[in-house]
Amino acid sequence: MSEKRLQKAIDTLKESGVRITPQRHAVLDYLLNSMIHPTADDIYKALEGKFPNMSVATVYNNLRVLREIGLVRELTYGDSSSRFECNLTEHYHIICQSCGKIVDFHYPSLDEVESLAEKVTGFEVSHHRMEVYGTCEECQQHETQKH
Ligand SMILES: [Zn+2]
Ligand SMILES: [Zn+2]
Repeated sequence: MSEKRLQKAIDTLKESGVRITPQRHAVLDYLLNSMIHPTADDIYKALEGKFPNMSVATVYNNLRVLREIGLVRELTYGDSSSRFECNLTEHYHIICQSCGKIVDFHYPSLDEVESLAEKVTGFEVSHHRMEVYGTCEECQQHETQKH
């Protein structure tokens, strides 16, 4: 399954004329298989063993290229570092306020908000953004263990 997604992503790269370097390939592969919405630093740490000459700046650079052709989405929440993901289907994020973990969830019926907003305000809506915050299961367990 993820092999197929990787191949599709690589086809998109080729079509957009972006050179497929081994590092770019590895960043894409890592993002496609990662559920954690990693930061550039996470990606760097995961790949530095494989690419000893790679720097965090190179990772950023690759992420920027991938973002520009629409293969990667950059998530910014408050003042913490940007997170990256390759899952480009519409979904929402729930964010743990203790450990910063981000988890995907889907709620398609929220699209109604867009048509409602259009009706009420006369705007032409392009998209909406919503985040849910809370404490993840792991952090809840840590909390109860402490008490
Ligand atoms: Zn947590
Ligand atoms: Zn996501």
